[in-house]
Amino acid sequence: MTATQDGPAELTSVDALPLRPELRGKTPYGAPQLKVAHRLNTNENPYPLPPELLADLATALAEASVELNRYPDRDAVALRTDLAAYLTRTAGDRVGPEQVWAANGSNEVLQQLLQAFGGAGRTALGFTPSYSMHPIIAAGTGTAWIDGHRRADFTIDADAAVAQVRELRPDVVFVTSPNNPTGTAVEPATVEALYAATQGMVVVDEAYAEFARLGTPSALALLPDRPRLVVSRTMSKAFGMAGLRLGYLAADPAVVDALQLVRLPYHLSALTQAAARAALAHTDALLATVDAVKAERDRIVAELPRLGLTSVPSDANFVLFGRFADARAAWQALLDHDVLVRDVGIPGWLRVTAGTPAETEAFLTALGEVAPAHRLGD
Ligand SMILES: *Cc1c(COP(=O)(O)O)cnc(C)c1O
Repeated sequence: MTATQDGPAELTSVDALPLRPELRGKTPYGAPQLKVAHRLNTNENPYPLPPELLADLATALAEASVELNRYPDRDAVALRTDLAAYLTRTAGDRVGPEQVWAANGSNEVLQQLLQAFGGAGRTALGFTPSYSMHPIIAAGTGTAWIDGHRRADFTIDADAAVAQVRELRPDVVFVTSPNNPTGTAVEPATVEALYAATQGMVVVDEAYAEFARLGTPSALALLPDRPRLVVSRTMSKAFGMAGLRLGYLAADPAVVDALQLVRLPYHLSALTQAAARAALAHTDALLATVDAVKAERDRIVAELPRLGLTSVPSDANFVLFGRFADARAAWQALLDHDVLVRDVGIPGWLRVTAGTPAETEAFLTALGEVAPAHRLGD
């Protein structure tokens, strides 16, 4: 960074610091946070929190504040009990608090997993294109990253995936289901086959599980008798609480024991624990918007062909749509129409978050104007 006229006289550049060599030249992760009328680029739930939850949050935070002179419950037992009850409700099989671990966003959960099961001299494999934070967290924990293959339609070929895992023997395999940024869910049979093919950990990132279409199963049902399987979830998406920073996982209790070796003491603040518990007490009200969001997702998918565009089947709250001659140019054109979507770096494709009916309307209107000039000719 160069010094500016009104900035400090001299700024130190990152390159001048004794930074770890593998971090040199990297750019930090982050979607642009631009001032735009319609922000459809980070897969948040656009609906405001229910008023009755806001009232309970205020009370819960006030009560927790009384004891802020003390460290919080290091093991977050009450919160993990509530999360286990939620998972039991949705999974069918009982999930116990000893099987659940929580942290500041599922990104921190994933980081703790790689601290415990990856690290120097170890490898992690994920099927790209997928969640771009997986390789970034790998880099941060000194874990070497391996790109796994997908078919051209972005699905995972189970046989090819198993062969790749058998050959390369990664210590951690990531499966994102439903996948971000493509929206595609992964068959439980594929997860089972990958688990059987590896001696390492298999982490199924289910950040979007609540948006799955009817009949799309969660990997939670595979947990019994698979101690190296982990399912990670978050309150950032369907629960509409991205600002809370609360992610969690379900796994064998031994995995939870392993993570306690690497987590920072008191990593989850008393306020976070109290707020998350207050939110979970309103699970039904929070998840009431999920069906509305799914309807908007399906409407986007249904409308795209009319504009000469197509999409990838989605079990999430977003749609990967295309194809464009130049995705970056189409992204800019949509932005010029006050609609911010995500350029995820897949040639020809862009990703849009499904939100309110008004947001869908604005998106489709803008896309109607942008598509003729930008869609890929035949
Ligand atoms: C959004 C997202 C997460 C959630 O991250 P948080 O840290 O819980 O906000 C995790 N995995 C995937 C694939 C995501 O898209």
